[in-house]
Amino acid sequence: MPTPNQKLLEHHNKSIPPQSYDSPELLVITCIDYRIDLQVPKKFAFIVRTAGADPRIVESNIAFVISSGIKSVALIGHTKCAMSNEPQTRASFSEGYHSTDLQDKDSGDINEYFNDKILPSMFQDLNKNLTDNRDYLQSMYPEVDVRAMIYDVDSHDLSLIG
Ligand SMILES: [Zn+2]
Repeated sequence: MPTPNQKLLEHHNKSIPPQSYDSPELLVITCIDYRIDLQVPKKFAFIVRTAGADPRIVESNIAFVISSGIKSVALIGHTKCAMSNEPQTRASFSEGYHSTDLQDKDSGDINEYFNDKILPSMFQDLNKNLTDNRDYLQSMYPEVDVRAMIYDVDSHDLSLIG
């Protein structure tokens, strides 16, 4: 009997049926990136998306899903994540903020906002970030099957890393 995480890998990579479930089995935590196109059957999974797939900033969402009886979590990072490139992401964030005129912030404020709200979710090594966050979730929920996976934004393949 495949686990919910194994089922996700099979649904996504091999389009293995069913296309719909009677009740959810999995919590997926992944990045907000527009290139991620997960193939998930209907009613199979809760999905939480956050920049860099950082579980720490969505802890109440995770607790909510786990408390509903879900026993499996797929933590999915991806290749070419903006959260792994601080200089470029900081520059484009700052530039974008200025050009939109949506906020009355000067450069110092924008930098401070970035340091406060975005920098803590950034990382340098995708594998290490995912395994660290997996271990963190596993320690919070010892009874839950937490797996780390990488989504390749070019091939759209999903791989289990541990
Ligand atoms: Zn990303």
